[in-house]
Amino acid sequence: MYCRNCGNEVSEKAIMCVACGTPPLAGNRYCPNCKAETSPDAGICIRCGVGLINTSNHSEFDWLTTLLLCLFLGTFGIHRFYTKSIGIGIVQLLTLGGCGLWTLIDFIMIVVGNFRDGNGKVVVNKQRA
Ligand SMILES: [Zn+2]
Ligand SMILES: [Zn+2]
Repeated sequence: MYCRNCGNEVSEKAIMCVACGTPPLAGNRYCPNCKAETSPDAGICIRCGVGLINTSNHSEFDWLTTLLLCLFLGTFGIHRFYTKSIGIGIVQLLTLGGCGLWTLIDFIMIVVGNFRDGNGKVVVNKQRA
């Protein structure tokens, strides 16, 4: 397969691309199957049709940390600050998590794996994924 970041050919089991030093599936520029260039948010490769669902849309923030912060400090928006959603964090801080309701919704989103960080990436439970 090919490194999704630089297009270099890497082994199926490689955890890191020798050419660019990132995990082969962490990039979003090349198809891992046919090396065609892909758009960053493409779901499938337009040349070979292979699915491009990978870790590139997964947040680098830790799922469990986000969950615990939301559970214990969510009314202050701390989980939002942690995941770099600073603007929303400030609003939640000022409104005490939308009187707790917003925090509850965020908590559910985190649990079901639908919570997005400030970069629009999904915070996922990597142990389970
Ligand atoms: Zn690479
Ligand atoms: Zn392809």
